[in-house]
Amino acid sequence: MNKEEFISALKNLNINITDKTLNDLDTYYKILIDYNSHTNLTRITEENEVYLKHFYDSLTLVKAIDLDNQTLLDIGTGAGFPGLVLKIVFPNLKVTLVDSLNKRITFLKSVIEKLGLKDIEAIHARAEEYALDKRESFDIVTSRAVANMSMLSELCIPFVKDHGYFVPMKADANEELKGAKNAIKTLGGVLKDTIIFELPYDAGTRTLIKIEKLVKTSVKYPRKFSEIKKKPL
Ligand code: SAM
Repeated sequence: MNKEEFISALKNLNINITDKTLNDLDTYYKILIDYNSHTNLTRITEENEVYLKHFYDSLTLVKAIDLDNQTLLDIGTGAGFPGLVLKIVFPNLKVTLVDSLNKRITFLKSVIEKLGLKDIEAIHARAEEYALDKRESFDIVTSRAVANMSMLSELCIPFVKDHGYFVPMKADANEELKGAKNAIKTLGGVLKDTIIFELPYDAGTRTLIKIEKLVKTSVKYPRKFSEIKKKPL
């Protein structure tokens, strides 16, 4: 997906991108490639592919939820997907990026500083530990490519505010979702919508799962990661 194709695909998502935002994404891309030459962040490095599979893909979250002026938490953000891309394109979002690998947080902080972004923080933590401080705190919690739906629900739903949303970004999620019904309910969520679509240029199927938080999560959750893994809800 070249830049013109990116701009036009965003129009189909009702996103009108400014020249400044395009410049910021270009700077992000350049820092990503530079950092990736010595520290592993992503195996996708070719520019058109990064614009499609990281930048555009991250922005498809708008298919599920209105993003303006909300607090958003991205668990296991890696090199900033989707959270940092969303912050660059929707500057009014208040974003928290969490990852358990410090080298990724160091990279994210350098992009945040270079672009002069405000109302965004990059936190080095494991989700299940960060939840001790920040439970029931965010309007939207999202996550891409971190764990299966059942485990991910336990890592993410505790952070969602009353009437907020957990919206994981998945590939083909039908089977995973069936296996996560009990976890979603136990953690206080209700499945509101499942949005399935194809990325352009045959880049694959994507699924956005929209879960609303209706009941506070019991303080029993999240459990230690070893337990979450051994006995998924
Ligand atoms: N979300 C990014 C993306 O889609 O490109 C990164 C995906 S990468 C496959 C998974 C990331 O989740 C890694 O950066 C890893 O360090 C992080 N991670 C895994 N388990 C985690 C946990 N329990 N808490 C916080 N981060 C975690």
